[in-house]
Amino acid sequence: MKKHNFSAGPSILPEFTIKNTAEAVLNFAGTGLSVMEVSHRDKEFIAVMDQATALFKELLDIPSGYQVVFLGGGASIHFCMIPYNLLNKKAAYLNTGTWASKAIKEAKFFGDVVEVASSKDENYCYIPKNFEVPADADYLHITTNNTIFGTEIRKDLDVNIPLVADMSSDIFSRPVDVSKYGIIYGGAQKNLAPSGVGFAVIKEELLGKVDRPIPTMLNYKTHIDNGSMFNTPPVLPVFSALQTLLWLKEQGGLGEMEKRNIRKATMLYNEIERNKLFKSTVKHEEDRSIMNVCFVMNEEYKDLETEFREFSASRGMVGIKGHRSVGGFRASIYNAMPEESVKALIDVMQEFEKKH
Ligand SMILES: *Cc1c(COP(=O)(O)O)cnc(C)c1O
Repeated sequence: MKKHNFSAGPSILPEFTIKNTAEAVLNFAGTGLSVMEVSHRDKEFIAVMDQATALFKELLDIPSGYQVVFLGGGASIHFCMIPYNLLNKKAAYLNTGTWASKAIKEAKFFGDVVEVASSKDENYCYIPKNFEVPADADYLHITTNNTIFGTEIRKDLDVNIPLVADMSSDIFSRPVDVSKYGIIYGGAQKNLAPSGVGFAVIKEELLGKVDRPIPTMLNYKTHIDNGSMFNTPPVLPVFSALQTLLWLKEQGGLGEMEKRNIRKATMLYNEIERNKLFKSTVKHEEDRSIMNVCFVMNEEYKDLETEFREFSASRGMVGIKGHRSVGGFRASIYNAMPEESVKALIDVMQEFEKKH
């Protein structure tokens, strides 16, 4: 039976990425060696890193003055590196979920943190709006897509201080106006590559302004100056990331991705609204994520939760159990998720409705 992979992360990747990675594990770039056993300083791998960096810039249409780095440590290392490199006295954070809270926790090691708004009071089921950003903060940090709660900021905000965004789970899902951001960062394992690598897009002029000394590995400048090769990079995940970037370009780029993602998400949200058994957990329609679709059973049908999970699993649906802090279900429909799989899930929801 065909499996439909709705896992939140690590998650579905394009078949193109998986096949090419499998091939390179056996024979990398005609070297007769595995990509896992060649030097990262060999010309074949340097070409991979250079091409991945260049394509990253091309697809996101990154203006000059910005640098792209690939680092180990996932998204979480940046929770610490961002304040280490940017926070002099005070930083502003928008608290929209678990990952935002973790970023806030790290920033507090380095200075004052102003929480400009929080949706914690309602279990993060909405994105706070109309908050005030302190003009004297060094930056405002946001999480554009809240992977666990299924809310998303799909507009590039206008703020008067540098904007820093965790885009772990919606990078490459839509075109982004990079010029509105100081740093964009994330882990790769939601929309780009296997886990083990993270990325950061950094506006260079923001660096070098804090007074504290920064340990070499945690200094963005180290990695910019060494082209993500200061130490041994996560070679295999970077190779896979390049495959996904090539695939994205071939599909028509981020405009096309956004179109597909909106179409898939709209189909699924429409079914959640129509189906008597289910409801969305996100309070306002405009906050609904097009990457992670969270839903629960309607009150009267609460008892059917386990049965639906088992029923959908028997039909090949994988990874739709909701995060423990929300419950219910979460269908992650990242870039690589074909529309056909979303339709298969909708069929299962309709079949289950008929049974009850
Ligand atoms: C998964 C996730 C993280 C954590 O990523 P790691 O690579 O495990 O550190 C951070 N932020 C968001 C939005 C995520 O979805």
